[in-house]
Amino acid sequence: MLKQHLQELRQHATPLYVYNLELLRQTLKAAKQEANKYNFHVHYALKANANQPILDEMRQHGFGADCVSGNEVRAAIENGFAPQDVVFAGVGKSDDEINYALDQDIFCFNCESSHELEVLNELAEKKGRTARIALRINPNVNAKTHKYITTGLEENKFGINAWELDSVLLLLNKLPNIRLIGIHFHIGSQITDLTVFRNLCTRVNEFQEWFEAHKIQLEHVNVGGGLGVDYYNPEQQPIPDFSAYFSLFNQFLELRPGQQVHFELGRALVAQCGTLVSKVLYIKKGVTTNFAILDAGMTELIRPALYQSYHKIENITSEKEDVRYDVVGPICESSDCFGKAVMLPETNRGDLIAIHTAGAYGEVMASGYNLRNKVKALYL
Ligand SMILES: *Cc1c(COP(=O)(O)O)cnc(C)c1O
Repeated sequence: MLKQHLQELRQHATPLYVYNLELLRQTLKAAKQEANKYNFHVHYALKANANQPILDEMRQHGFGADCVSGNEVRAAIENGFAPQDVVFAGVGKSDDEINYALDQDIFCFNCESSHELEVLNELAEKKGRTARIALRINPNVNAKTHKYITTGLEENKFGINAWELDSVLLLLNKLPNIRLIGIHFHIGSQITDLTVFRNLCTRVNEFQEWFEAHKIQLEHVNVGGGLGVDYYNPEQQPIPDFSAYFSLFNQFLELRPGQQVHFELGRALVAQCGTLVSKVLYIKKGVTTNFAILDAGMTELIRPALYQSYHKIENITSEKEDVRYDVVGPICESSDCFGKAVMLPETNRGDLIAIHTAGAYGEVMASGYNLRNKVKALYL
């Protein structure tokens, strides 16, 4: 795709995030179509990428917003998402963030501890409001993904553990400014083994029985996000298998009459539509390989440094014979490396390098470390 736009790319300063909006639209249509089959509601997790053109597409395609900070709630609302389509999770919501979300009367707070419930009740009471909440439950399901993006194990800080639920119910009876409308789960990210989601369904069904036994009706079940993408073959698999994903939940979730099911997808919707384009600054001889030194670094895309994650790297301007390179950035950290022993056509100063599948948790995590300039974006 990018090779057709070389002339245009050459006119832009690098590093540059390039977004393929056509692929984004195809992805959103596919996700929506599969979710609609079962009347599932899908919220887009803004933390994956909150650029305005991306948010516009999400809203236009009928996605709700899943937020994990007050500013994400604000970004959703200022970009036209209806408050009744906004959910707000996070283990550390500040008073200001809660107050703002209360004022906006968002659909649901996904609450992660008893202490948070007490504070939310107090803040809602001061405003004479009732907050709708879902309990984020930690189901102790292994997401079989990188440990930094595993969130559903008891050792993780997220959610309320099963053994705390009795006391949470007692507490809720004493909190008149909170109304329990559902349960929420989110067990991790970049989950490619669908049996993990099947295990999640089994746990959700067990919790549903528990609530039923306690005579509590839940209107909403939110199973979070986490569906992974193919970082190794972005061209062959640009759109995740939403059909398999949603049909699995349809098959294995045991729902009560009238219950609504919610999802919160981030990565699966936006990862493949974004590419980080960078220029080669220098080639340097190493002991075992050569280094290709780029003008992009971990300040623009931190995933390899933070999670040892793989991104497919391509030289889009050279057609020569393959040579092996360590592809690195300019930042003063040894972890500032996009790939080791990568086979690329012989690479020279000025060549353009595409780092694929960078649309999620890429630009949004960019930092100013080393006083770097803010990375720019181009929409094709
Ligand atoms: C990050 C996050 C998501 C989205 O995760 P993806 O792996 O990008 O789909 C959904 N829900 C919550 C609560 C999150 O924190």
